[in-house]
Amino acid sequence: LGGPEPGPQHRIRVCVRKRPLNPREAGLQDFDVVTVPCRGVVVVHEARQRLDLSRYLESQTFRFDHAFDESAPNELVYRNTAQPLVESIFRRGMATCFAYGQTGSGKTHTMVGDLSAKGQGCPKGIYTLAAQDVFCWLQEPSYKQLELQVYGAFFEIYGGKVYDLLNWRNRLKVLEDGKQQIQVVGLQEEEVSCVEDVMKLIEMGNRCRTSGQTSANTHSSRSHAIFQIILRKRGKLHGKFSLIDLAGNERGADTGSADRRTRLEGAEINKSLLALKECIRALGRNKAHTPFRASKLTQVLRDSFIGENSCTCMIATISPGMRSCEHTLNTLRYANRVKEL
Ligand code: ADP
Ligand code: MG
Repeated sequence: LGGPEPGPQHRIRVCVRKRPLNPREAGLQDFDVVTVPCRGVVVVHEARQRLDLSRYLESQTFRFDHAFDESAPNELVYRNTAQPLVESIFRRGMATCFAYGQTGSGKTHTMVGDLSAKGQGCPKGIYTLAAQDVFCWLQEPSYKQLELQVYGAFFEIYGGKVYDLLNWRNRLKVLEDGKQQIQVVGLQEEEVSCVEDVMKLIEMGNRCRTSGQTSANTHSSRSHAIFQIILRKRGKLHGKFSLIDLAGNERGADTGSADRRTRLEGAEINKSLLALKECIRALGRNKAHTPFRASKLTQVLRDSFIGENSCTCMIATISPGMRSCEHTLNTLRYANRVKEL
């Protein structure tokens, strides 16, 4: 089952996923300006009008651990991002996987999948695919003998406040004890014994995520949703996988909005995404000081980051259209900074 761990170094993987141009964009005469010429490479062609590929004026190339083009299904993305991290939580590890990108670029499609489409053929998201593998590993004789229990937790951070999605949006407090351990006080953990149990939790949490909101999309684009698969041995934490559908990164730019609430939310999102980048960068460099306290998001993820045996994977999702070009470049630059140590 793999070799020895390479010491306490935090491992970070940064991947990019491009989604297909959708009918709405095609209807607006938008066109695809992103190509994935080979594994790990993304090129953004800055064209001012529809041209054939050979005549694009300027292009910017980015390199990542993996880049997926629009033909990649969720399973392929999962296999090359979160799947290699699943086993680590059985070895007392802490794993984290984020989807980062503009609203509409495919974060929820990647992480949660399509919950509305019932039955066969509906794409499962990384939440479900990871849970499936957790139950597979649980049957492995060397892990089976550990007699671990599996729990699911699901919460969101909205406007700097934490809400429990498995408990009617109960507002949760985040406390730090004398030993710098962070606790999300009262967070509901539901015991699960099969993947169907997990899917029920995801559906329930998702309903809770948008309940009472005027526009489902506005709300989810402004909140970070964190789903956790937790392994416990006789109640004691053994390992944890945090899977995160981040707020739309363009919302960080809402700081100039006229509406006070929108402005404050934008500032909060901006702060948390900056803090996230700085924390991941600090981890990669094994820096002594990591600015966890700078945001609620990084505060609640602290225990997942500091573990000796922890690993992180980021999936930057991008829209292919020319009209999204600026946001796409921002996303790629952010991902580049996370990767660059
Ligand atoms: P986000 O969560 O980043 O705001 P969504 O995941 O909701 O974006 O995606 C927006 C729309 O695009 C949804 O209708 C989704 O089904 C579709 N979509 C996103 N990514 C893909 C993909 N890789 N393949 C097909 N459709 C996709
Ligand atoms: Mg979404």
